[in-house]
Amino acid sequence: MSGRRVLVVGASIAGPALAHWLWRRGAEVTVVERAPGLRPGGQAVDARGVTKEVIRRMGLDAAIRAACTDTEGAHTVDVDGNVLETYRADDDGGDGMIAEIEILRGDLAQVLYDDTCGGVEYVFGDRIVELVQDAGGVEVTFAGGGQRRFDLVVGADGLHSSLREMVFGPRERFIRHLGLVLAFYSVPNEFGLGRWFVEYQDRESGRSAGLRPFKDATQAMAVFAFPSDDLGVDYRDVEGQKQLLRERMAGLGWLTPRILEHLGDSPDFYLDQVAQVVMDRWSEGRVALIGDAAFSPSPMSGAGTGLALVGAYVLAGELAAAGWDPEVGFAAYEARMRPFVEANQEIGRLHTGSHASAEPDMEALTALIERALNGIDLPDYAGVPDIGPTT
Ligand SMILES: Cc1cc2nc3c(=O)[nH]c(=O)nc-3n(C[C@H](O)[C@H](O)[C@H](O)COP(=O)(O)OP(=O)(O)OC[C@H]3O[C@@H](n4cnc5c(N)ncnc54)[C@H](O)[C@@H]3O)c2cc1C
Repeated sequence: MSGRRVLVVGASIAGPALAHWLWRRGAEVTVVERAPGLRPGGQAVDARGVTKEVIRRMGLDAAIRAACTDTEGAHTVDVDGNVLETYRADDDGGDGMIAEIEILRGDLAQVLYDDTCGGVEYVFGDRIVELVQDAGGVEVTFAGGGQRRFDLVVGADGLHSSLREMVFGPRERFIRHLGLVLAFYSVPNEFGLGRWFVEYQDRESGRSAGLRPFKDATQAMAVFAFPSDDLGVDYRDVEGQKQLLRERMAGLGWLTPRILEHLGDSPDFYLDQVAQVVMDRWSEGRVALIGDAAFSPSPMSGAGTGLALVGAYVLAGELAAAGWDPEVGFAAYEARMRPFVEANQEIGRLHTGSHASAEPDMEALTALIERALNGIDLPDYAGVPDIGPTT
């Protein structure tokens, strides 16, 4: 019988969501986050299909809906701002391009943290430097100098996961770039936006710029995309990334120059390559991965957050159902999640236009979308301990 002291690495979406479920199932949970506090920022993330059911089971439906962006829909516009296409938030039963549950990534992280901080230990500003597994547990050394022993360690440390590198191998082995870079940062809404996401796409250069209102439309999240095979700037070098964005967006019309004027003073700038993580397995002994660290579907899938939330429910449920035996629990987690992950990764590749095979026909596409939304059975883990939602 294994114990249940679990270390979770990363406090964004997957980490606190996993902490929620582990705690409810009776584990003693510590979350370590490299940043000095919760990281703000990020574009809106969506909850569709089965993810909405997981949110309901977390007891967080009301809290998340209260923090939603309240976006009415999206317009694509030409270079002069004339509307070309319109998508509404209630299209496709709320599961469309602009989902009914749409929340800024930083706001969702805050809701998840607030929900768990009473029962979970959070350690900010630290990270693992060494990890040694033995038959009975995992010995962890932290950069801050501490050394602690856990029964299980789960990496929820994102696309560039250090834990993955430490335990599974170099990042190049698992990361698949899809040839696109995305950047986001908040700006004052001096553009007269209502509650609509507005996007200008320059099809010739493959670049786009968009603005999404939030905070009662007093602010807007700028979103830029440009094609690029190789970033050439380290993912931690924020000033280098800002400079890169300025260079790559030069000459793009619409409101682009005005939005770029706010680049210097943005508190929450985020830029990264659009990439997926593809691994044969997500666990090794007493260590497992979850969220983007294990199976990033890329932002183009619109499903990174959904996979993280569903994965957290399944991983904690399967571990507890297996009496905290990592071999059995991790294997069951993988078996349940993998087809669901693969459908969402397929959507991500299709949206980026980098899909190797021929375009699927409409029937195949509809079936794929359904698998990406709902293609996993959520067990209710009836016989497994559950202290219930915290709110
Ligand atoms: C600041 C930020 C902005 C984002 N913006 C967007 C966006 O606009 N659109 C989008 O689709 N996706 C965005 N993402 C990614 C999105 O959050 C994920 O796709 C999805 O929600 C799954 O989240 P995750 O928790 O698995 O990974 P992530 O959200 O990437 O979180 C990983 C966490 O681990 C922490 N971490 C990293 N390394 C270590 C370490 N060695 N030790 C301890 N902690 C570590 C990071 O600081 C971060 O808090 C963003 C992520 C971040 C961190």
